[in-house]
Amino acid sequence: MNRAGREFPPGGTNCRVRAVERVAQVRGLEKRYGGRLVLKGIDLEVPRGSAYGLVGPNGAGKTTFIKVLLGIVRASTGEVELMGRVPQDPRSRASVGYLPERLTLPEAWTPVAWLRSVLRLKGVSGDPAALLEEVRLDPEAHRRRMGGFSKGMKQRVGLAGALAGAPQVLVLDEPTDGIDPIGRMEIRELLAARVREGVTVFLNSHLLAETERLCDHVAILGGGRLLVSGALADLRSQGAPRARFEPRPDLPELCARHDLHPVEGGWAARDATPETMSRALAGILAEGAVLRELTEPASDLEMVLREAVEAEAA
Ligand code: ATP
Repeated sequence: MNRAGREFPPGGTNCRVRAVERVAQVRGLEKRYGGRLVLKGIDLEVPRGSAYGLVGPNGAGKTTFIKVLLGIVRASTGEVELMGRVPQDPRSRASVGYLPERLTLPEAWTPVAWLRSVLRLKGVSGDPAALLEEVRLDPEAHRRRMGGFSKGMKQRVGLAGALAGAPQVLVLDEPTDGIDPIGRMEIRELLAARVREGVTVFLNSHLLAETERLCDHVAILGGGRLLVSGALADLRSQGAPRARFEPRPDLPELCARHDLHPVEGGWAARDATPETMSRALAGILAEGAVLRELTEPASDLEMVLREAVEAEAA
């Protein structure tokens, strides 16, 4: 871990300028629980003002990553920096709003009373009712005990807590878990508005369509490793074009002879270049095969995720 107050990476003015352009930077992060390595050498930068989605299968290490980033658990190895400081420095979290994966709200309290205490603990001013309106909690529920609340209502209250004090960075672990589709849309619009205002959103979600609509950057974790990361537009355009042909018994040999290999949904060139694909297609078609479809490379997050996880497993 780097020491409190040390620049990351160490250096002069340029480093200082770069440090404010990203809200988080992680290098060589490993986290071990007992003998088990659950984060395996993660390198990641979260640019300021981005909407960054963290996705991956169950148990991939997403929540653990967030906990390390916020200083809730310590990294076993590696360097972690949040807002230019080590996560153990409370100043790193001064302008961060956090919604944990499983927030336990005091059942006997009302949302207004709970938010008052959140505002007091954060040392910021704010109007609980305005925060609750922002997350669209029915005004009738503002002063009701939370014990009888639905999961979605509790999520909204938790999110209001994360928004308290107008933080520059929002770290949200499954923020729309339990919220109905219309509610999810409302939350997404609320978060998108924050991003437009310059707030950085770091979001862990299993809802790929939602992540895709909100986020401009994505990281895919699988088995504790960072499989893919970067701007969503770049990730979508990666991958090989794939061809589908009319079935014929010798298709596998024909494709193999022209350097195409089987992939999900068709045949692709190993080096994924359009040139190799064009050459292969010309050869295969000249031998009488009939092309049914030529598809774009990975075009949505689901495909990017599936390809990343399959490549890791291969
Ligand atoms: P999900 O999508 O299911 O929420 P995740 O990607 O957030 O999963 P984590 O909750 O970070 O995954 O868990 C990663 C691994 O670390 C899991 O195998 C989990 O069992 C293990 N783990 C998490 N917290 C602890 C802990 N406190 N002690 C021991 N092991 C833990």
